[in-house]
Amino acid sequence: MDCVFCKIAKGEIPSKKAYEDDQILAFYDLDPQAPVHILLIPKAHIASANELTEENSAVVSHIFLTAAKLAKELGLEKGYRIVNNCGEDGGQTVQHLHFHLLGGRSMKWPPG
Ligand code: AMP
Ligand code: ZN
Repeated sequence: MDCVFCKIAKGEIPSKKAYEDDQILAFYDLDPQAPVHILLIPKAHIASANELTEENSAVVSHIFLTAAKLAKELGLEKGYRIVNNCGEDGGQTVQHLHFHLLGGRSMKWPPG
């Protein structure tokens, strides 16, 4: 399958890793939108939040717990934002489920 995040998960495309275990990978975004901008992905291919099921969704909880740990390690005690873009209107450009961990600056609301 020609999926860039599957290739990153397998180490076929290099990334700057922030965390890795057998289920998930966290790596720095190539085009950071905040002083800290990390992507967290399941290693298994899930195309988007729309493809989550009772069987495969436990990884989302693991991703959120890991994001909170990374935020603490990286000194984001003033807060941070976790974003999932889903589908065309959501602004999803890579069709492999991922969560953006953004921090190190004050975030605006609503997002554009
Ligand atoms: P989204 O728009 O939510 O689908 O986010 C995709 C994100 O992946 C964007 O923020 C891109 O900058 C990022 N991205 C795409 N390719 C790579 C890559 N090879 N390494 C790191 N980040 C990437
Ligand atoms: Zn994939």
